[in-house]
Amino acid sequence: ALNCKPNDPTPSPTIFSHEFSLADRVALVSGGNRGLGLEMALALIEAGARVVYCVDLPKDPSAEWQAAHDYAKKLGSSGKTGGEGRLEYITGDVTDQALMWKIGKQIGDKEGRMDACVAAAGILRSNIDCLEYPAEEFRKVIDVNVNGVLFTAQAAGRQMERFGNGGSIVLIASMSGSITNKDQAWVSYNTSKSAVIQMARSMACELAPRKIRVNSLSPGYIYTSLTAAYLDSQPHLLEKWSSQNPMGRLGRPDELRGVVTWLTSDASTFCTGSDVLVSGGHHSW
Ligand code: NDP
Repeated sequence: ALNCKPNDPTPSPTIFSHEFSLADRVALVSGGNRGLGLEMALALIEAGARVVYCVDLPKDPSAEWQAAHDYAKKLGSSGKTGGEGRLEYITGDVTDQALMWKIGKQIGDKEGRMDACVAAAGILRSNIDCLEYPAEEFRKVIDVNVNGVLFTAQAAGRQMERFGNGGSIVLIASMSGSITNKDQAWVSYNTSKSAVIQMARSMACELAPRKIRVNSLSPGYIYTSLTAAYLDSQPHLLEKWSSQNPMGRLGRPDELRGVVTWLTSDASTFCTGSDVLVSGGHHSW
């Protein structure tokens, strides 16, 4: 092991680009049926993961997921990634802790390892006055965005601990966990995303001795079905969000591929407890 002394002459044991490889790794991605979850599941496949298990609510996967599955298979059989390119779908609700643990165990039993996890399932409730917020609605957002993220991380983390190889867990938070404005106050969503950022820091401290890294990844505005539902009813917001961004636009889902590969691979072995903001420079209003 490198002792990390300054000027340590020990040469790096790998070629740098190999550190981004996820060859033979097994991953669990919640919310992987579409949107950012599916995009990031594909990124892990492209980086060589043996198999990525996508957990999501619907009984059957979406057409988008099916297309990604076929693409992943083709990529695997091309031999370019060094992985099998297997994308698997599991129906599951992240708010069900027992179910999530069971899913994690089934993956561990079948694959004999667990290396990476991306907790991306999340919901947005907007335009509810904070003084009038119904308890059940508030609980629902916290249940999916906070409890569900913890249960997903537990599902994967318990298997990482079981096999003893360590691993990397990425909790999807949001720019909205750190900043807000009067138009996007979204009290339940923003509160939940702040909690996720702090959850990553806390879990990182507890799990570092077990070689499990935990970071949060905070995207800025990206056009997906989550934001489309909000933007389509208020078209002027697309213009506004773009003009508030130093890059003058929203992000694309594929612009998260590199960062999630970096966070789940050995290219980021000293990175834990961090919140990685990917927002086109948007971090104040
Ligand atoms: P999408 O709505 O496109 O995808 C979210 C996915 O999570 C859906 O497939 C949804 O299933 C699934 N999901 C919701 N509830 C549950 C549950 N209880 N159990 C399992 N799966 C569930 O959203 P995005 O892809 O945009 O968002 C992904 C993550 O990124 C979220 O955590 C979001 O908060 C975060 N994010 C998104 C940003 C953006 O601008 N898009 C910006 C910052 C953060 P179903 O469709 O069936 O409900």
